[in-house]
Amino acid sequence: MPPITKAQAAEIEEYDYFVIGGGSGGLASARRAASYGAKVGLAESTPRLGGTCVNVGCVPKKVMWYTADIADNLRKAAAYGFGKGDEGVQMAKDFNWTELKHKRDAYIKRLNGIYESNLVKDGVDYHSGFASFIDANTVEIDGLNGEKYQVKAKNITVAVGGRPTIPTEEQIQGAKYGINSDGFFDIEEQPKRVAVVGAGYIAVELAGVFNTLGTETHLIIRHDQVLRTFDPMLSEVLVPYMEKTGMNIHKSSNVKKVEKTSTGSLLVYVDSLGEDKPLEVDVLLWAIGRHANTEKLGLENLNDIKLDKQGDIIADEYQNTNIPNVYAVGDVAGKVLLTPVAIAAGRRLSNRLFGPEKYKNDKLSYENIPSVVFSHPTIGSVGLSEPEAEEKFGKDNIKVYKTSFKAMSFAMLDENHKQPTSYKLVCHGPEEKVVGLHIIGEGSDEMLQGFGVAVKMGATKDDFDSCVAIHPTSSEELVTLR
Ligand code: FAD
Ligand code: NDP
Repeated sequence: MPPITKAQAAEIEEYDYFVIGGGSGGLASARRAASYGAKVGLAESTPRLGGTCVNVGCVPKKVMWYTADIADNLRKAAAYGFGKGDEGVQMAKDFNWTELKHKRDAYIKRLNGIYESNLVKDGVDYHSGFASFIDANTVEIDGLNGEKYQVKAKNITVAVGGRPTIPTEEQIQGAKYGINSDGFFDIEEQPKRVAVVGAGYIAVELAGVFNTLGTETHLIIRHDQVLRTFDPMLSEVLVPYMEKTGMNIHKSSNVKKVEKTSTGSLLVYVDSLGEDKPLEVDVLLWAIGRHANTEKLGLENLNDIKLDKQGDIIADEYQNTNIPNVYAVGDVAGKVLLTPVAIAAGRRLSNRLFGPEKYKNDKLSYENIPSVVFSHPTIGSVGLSEPEAEEKFGKDNIKVYKTSFKAMSFAMLDENHKQPTSYKLVCHGPEEKVVGLHIIGEGSDEMLQGFGVAVKMGATKDDFDSCVAIHPTSSEELVTLR
């Protein structure tokens, strides 16, 4: 079914629920509301449904992570008796970025189609265009087909997500020559040399992909660690390993200026390297955070809707804004910028607004949300970091269990090629309730979900220990910590 036209929209008197934004949170919320029989419409401003995660986030990123992981495994092949000499290493070098990129694009396109048919199948009206508020019950759609019209709704949710932040030309001359994470997914040919600026999830993940696939990679960070909002152990293990695998990490460093040369390469001037030694790269990628898409939404028509300093819409634990019947879900509400968080918040809001009586107080708990960084090796984390637990409960009231080892999957490799693994449990009080679990090492991404359930249920160290270990695995180390 094609999107709604202006003529069809004129027939609709009023929606029960209208969602602005066809990404993770918006789609989930709209479909859940429709499943309860509500009359629902949704607007998406780009031609593709799915939002950041599907188009320029989690999904294509994970494809690139799998690709890099295969390159890593090819390098291990000889140690396990496959091929002669450096055949595996050569295969890893023969990687065809362009071909993979086109296959990845086709996969995403298929997903876009599935999202659209699911929406229509669930009875949600799909409006293809940019939506903005006329008032708290009226939205104007500036259609991608050139038509402009208005729709009315009793309840409206803003789920417009965010976009990458890049420095202005006033802040850093030549910053405009850099790309952001959206641009990463447009790269047609594997660059020979890249500089990535930032120290969060995106910088670590994308620099990791480049480095593992054999691009000369420079990571420029302001401090001497990455992922500084996580437990410090994770960065302390990851940074030396990234360096060991060839990544150039420029610590305590800031980009001062960027110039484009006549051959199209970029000269990146970094304060720690000195003015006469710019980095010459093919791609500069800014990964210094994201900000909400709240401009041009007509929020000025909403009688003082409250935004915070960053421009995120302030929503309470029920996703209510300060304007009655206007809600905010996902990245635009600026709390925990993860797809499953946007989905869960969107669904629970619809449960509460349109679902049966038992859901009348439904809301998402933002505590103990597990999260994974797709670095090489991967990182998993749930609950409080050691410093956060110390601050909350006092140093004397927490006990920390730690282990570091080399996973058995590297047993046939020489010492120099083994990835590190480190696990930490942060426990509180005499009953040693596990309030934080932090893991880095092969398989941490798949391992975390189950341990996330345990932490969410309030498991203690004794509960962990009472679960018989699965041998031989890496995860068994988490139930045998001493
Ligand atoms: P979005 O998915 O951004 O959707 C918002 C939608 O609203 C967009 O489609 C946008 O076009 C549309 N829109 C904006 N303005 C309007 C308007 N005025 N009218 C109509 N439509 C509008 N999270 C994870 O959990 N795991 C990961 O591995 C992961 N990897 C990531 C990798 C990268 C590179 C990035 C950038 C993000 C990643 N994330 C990951 C985060 C995740 O993508 C976001 O948290 C998630 O997409 C947020 O969903 P949302 O619905 O709030 O917003
Ligand atoms: P983050 O907020 O995670 O990290 C950005 C980091 O960049 C900051 O923590 C800061 O680190 C550094 N930084 C900020 N400003 C500057 C600056 N001016 N110059 C240099 N460095 C700077 O943002 P990301 O863009 O990496 O990701 C956005 C969000 O998307 C994440 O928070 C996450 O929620 C989500 N995401 C999730 C993923 C997953 O689940 N696997 C993957 C990718 C994204 P410091 O202070 O140390 O310098």
